[in-house]
Amino acid sequence: MALRIIIGLVLTAVAAALAGRRLWWLYSVGRTGQPAPERIDAARHHPATDAETQVTEVFGQRKLLKWSVPGIAHFLTFWGFIILLLTIIEAYGDLFSKTFAIPGIGHWAWVGFLEDLFAVAVLVGLAIFTVIRLRHSPRKEGRESRFAGSHTSAAWLVLFLIFLVIATLLVYRGAQINTGDFPYAHGAFASQIVGHWLAPLGLTANKALETTFILLQLAVVLGFGVFVTYSKHLHIIVAPVNVLFSRRPNGLGALQPMRSGGKVLDFEEADPDTDIFGRGKIEDFTWKGMLDMATCTECGRCQSQCPAWATGKPLSPKMVILDLRDHAFAKAPYLLAKSDEAKEKLPDSVKAEAQRPLVGDEAANGVIDPDVLWSCTNCGACVEECPVDIEHIDHITDMRRHQVLIESAFPTEASSMMKNLENKGDPWGMGEAKRLDWAEGLGFEVPVVDGKIGGDVEYLYWVGCAGALEDRARKATRAIAQLLHTAGVSFAVLGPAETCTGDPARRIGNEFVYSMLAQQNIETLNEAGARKIVASCPHCFNTIANEYPQLGGNYEVIHHTQLLARLVAEGKLTPVSPVDERITYHDPCFLGRHNRVFTPPREIMEHVPGARPQEMHRCKERGFCCGAGGARMWMEERIGKRINTERIEEALGTNPDTISTGCPYCMVMLGDAVSAKKSSGEAKESLEVVDVAQILERSLRPPVAAAAVGPAAAEPAGADGAGGASGDGKVADPGTARPGPPGHDLG
Ligand code: SF4
Ligand code: SF4
Repeated sequence: MALRIIIGLVLTAVAAALAGRRLWWLYSVGRTGQPAPERIDAARHHPATDAETQVTEVFGQRKLLKWSVPGIAHFLTFWGFIILLLTIIEAYGDLFSKTFAIPGIGHWAWVGFLEDLFAVAVLVGLAIFTVIRLRHSPRKEGRESRFAGSHTSAAWLVLFLIFLVIATLLVYRGAQINTGDFPYAHGAFASQIVGHWLAPLGLTANKALETTFILLQLAVVLGFGVFVTYSKHLHIIVAPVNVLFSRRPNGLGALQPMRSGGKVLDFEEADPDTDIFGRGKIEDFTWKGMLDMATCTECGRCQSQCPAWATGKPLSPKMVILDLRDHAFAKAPYLLAKSDEAKEKLPDSVKAEAQRPLVGDEAANGVIDPDVLWSCTNCGACVEECPVDIEHIDHITDMRRHQVLIESAFPTEASSMMKNLENKGDPWGMGEAKRLDWAEGLGFEVPVVDGKIGGDVEYLYWVGCAGALEDRARKATRAIAQLLHTAGVSFAVLGPAETCTGDPARRIGNEFVYSMLAQQNIETLNEAGARKIVASCPHCFNTIANEYPQLGGNYEVIHHTQLLARLVAEGKLTPVSPVDERITYHDPCFLGRHNRVFTPPREIMEHVPGARPQEMHRCKERGFCCGAGGARMWMEERIGKRINTERIEEALGTNPDTISTGCPYCMVMLGDAVSAKKSSGEAKESLEVVDVAQILERSLRPPVAAAAVGPAAAEPAGADGAGGASGDGKVADPGTARPGPPGHDLG
């Protein structure tokens, strides 16, 4: 008896020392990161939300269960480990007393049943994991496998260790049944089966098996516990903490302001020598950023949904996190060294790691390749999928901020966009004079705010740069204005006083230009007395609704599809003319995933008589990007397949007559891809990409007129878009031959 107690306690002490040492080291590494007081404040001030998140995300495994088969396997394993904590207490108790039963639980048969049920459930989970890992191994599927780049050997070892935990558990419990030491007379069905197999060995052998396998069980559990702290399975410990300090409701929507030393950076007072501008070194990340790195489970769900990865680009959100983590751990001895002398004494490999630039190409031995950094469209698919709430977009943007603001290193073709934003207030550099051209020829006058918004005006219509200046987007703008007018909604526009919201500048990392534009717009909006804003561009919608509050601009913002769906539901807009077409809807990332507006555009189409909506495979939360977000609209797409082509090929799979969307950027990107497909004969000539507002507007026209004009005339009469920036990289007005958006030419 004494020997087994000693062995059990020694094993425990060794494991606790090893795991504790590692956890302290991890904690120390995390502390080398920057402060993030806002995370602590948020967690402190919202205990109810935090509790709910823990229940749904951690215990309910909400995100994991979206992937039904692996989700169920993980759910079974997770809950198995929670329930089987009872058996570990029992194993320790057995070391001291053969008749041990957990106080308060005693010999309740249902506890024995539950323990066995979950032991079997874990085995089922393991079997599922094994099949998944075999079927989707990187060796078989190459980069298509979500495990490509993950540490697969460690994952196999963990599966084996978990199997050993359950196997040793069932053997010692089976032996206990035969020795009379088992606390549960009934219910433990699996242990009873094993006991039945072991019974012929006799009492002495069963006693030996009981002692040996209890010690083995403790050794395996403790060994597993130590291994967890050294592997990707660290997430078992840190995932609940990461979820607790993650952004609410998630890392989508708004970007975070630039912070240095825990404070929001004020550009007027910031000092490049002492303040941190974005992330230029691993220690510039906050402790929460480092926690993200330590929490990654390497599951690859983010990678499998990333449009950049899917189209052959080097960006994998998983690998970004893993590369940062590996670098942080390799550089840690340098960061933790207490003096220059101590740093000098470090191995050369550590010193070399400390010298690596955070962003740099292969020649520079950078941790993150520039092609990785600039491939991100900010689509949010990674954040949406990540089961442990890692905030990839924030990290990518913070690294971009450093590159743009400190290193002046970014894709050169984006520089004209930034100059145009700074000097002309729109990405094309067309200036304020053309901002009202879209309204020419409408059968009514569009009121323009002059000073204060009139008391009779309900909505300020935020048209956006593309909606005002890009040919195809202008058609949607006209349709929206027409619909609002028809429904009797009083609205006004800012016209020349409107400038870019700053979204492209912010998403590329130019926080300085973003702040300038945002402050200017907030001033304009406040002076005009704007309260309710309807925006037709999801990027403007997201920026004004979610990011302007960071600068004191608080407005009630809705997207035009939300307003139009409501007007239809209220009977203020009644579609009457059949639009006899098969229509597939493309979810704009900044409307859908980032802002959860999935239903209104679909509701609009459901009300249009004759329309036959046809969903693409990747839709709603799993919608596939058009390739324009994250300022990618303004960068060349040189690597891999074009994202818009990939999306259009999926759309063509539904054999659509029309592709609808709710975003001018998407219209441009998808429109370009459709044009290319028409040129190659892969798409029918009549196929168009339109805004859902254009479909609704067409259905409001008298049947004869609607039938006569067909899909190509989805815009109100007279909408020729003269003088606008065209999506094919040119400006339609010959008198203003400025370069158009380079990222979506037809080549
Ligand atoms: S935001 Fe989209 S493009 Fe960027 S890493 Fe995540 S999934 Fe990939
Ligand atoms: S970042 Fe999240 S989704 Fe991606 S591999 Fe890590 S845990 Fe999985």
